[in-house]
Amino acid sequence: MAIYAIFVRERGVRFSPLSGLKYLLPASIYKTPSVRIDLMMVPISWVLNFVLFAGLAVGSGVVQVWLAGHYGHSPLHVPAGWMAVSLQIAFTLLGTDIARFAWHYQGHKVAFFWEFHKGHHSAEALHPVFIRTHPVDMFVRLLYMNMGGGLVGGGLMYLCGVDASTTAAGLLVVIGTVFHFMQQFEHSHVKFSFGKTLDKVFYPPHFHQIHHSALLEHRDKNLGLTGGLCLWDKLAGTLYIPKANERIIYGASLEELGSNNPHRTLWGFLSGPFVEAARTLRPRTPVDSGLVRTAETAGPR
Ligand SMILES: [Zn+2]
Ligand SMILES: [Zn+2]
Repeated sequence: MAIYAIFVRERGVRFSPLSGLKYLLPASIYKTPSVRIDLMMVPISWVLNFVLFAGLAVGSGVVQVWLAGHYGHSPLHVPAGWMAVSLQIAFTLLGTDIARFAWHYQGHKVAFFWEFHKGHHSAEALHPVFIRTHPVDMFVRLLYMNMGGGLVGGGLMYLCGVDASTTAAGLLVVIGTVFHFMQQFEHSHVKFSFGKTLDKVFYPPHFHQIHHSALLEHRDKNLGLTGGLCLWDKLAGTLYIPKANERIIYGASLEELGSNNPHRTLWGFLSGPFVEAARTLRPRTPVDSGLVRTAETAGPR
């Protein structure tokens, strides 16, 4: 088992374009079964991400236009211009961020949803190319983010008298693309920070490495979205500031690594969650409910 976080500190090698590339794309990572599943899931992720970008761009505007059409214009009015565009973008991103946190919190705290989200956590290596997410989990996330961006963003636009603009919609796609690129780093072995001060406000990519740790002290921590607000994690009591050289072992849990990983094959990754999620809907026995489980095996999930 490799602990890829340590890779970051192995800097004895002199920098060259080749050593830089090897550092970003180490062959030891790409040979693992975990990464093969990541790469096989890339096409479906592209399709679903298109839906996310479309919702992000127009969702809040559609809701604002609908509310104004049905209930009349708000007494407040922000004239068309940079202020209105900025507010539309800020409200949409705020709504998306809250909704994304709610989806993630649910994925960790509700057993049924955890079974689908677990496929994202069963990856035993983080790398900057791509990380898998189960299609059901991805769909629920899209639903939450599009609904959140639309309802919260559009609702706030309506209340403040901000009219929807196509300029804001276009800029949201650009901003969404930048966020998407940044988010690749949250799933890599490279520690990427915004700097000590900004890290306290905006969730930096390296906080998410803790989120993927199988160690008990890291479990269900740092549920925020890279570039989003740390505030939600602070309010939920799930914020964990990584220490320098923090030890991390990637995976869903220490009991499900290597040959015990239920998602070692694409079939296991895709079909397993349906079986396990169905199991969570059955009436629970005292053993299932955790009354006779140890703290190590039970966890907060
Ligand atoms: Zn998670
Ligand atoms: Zn992740």
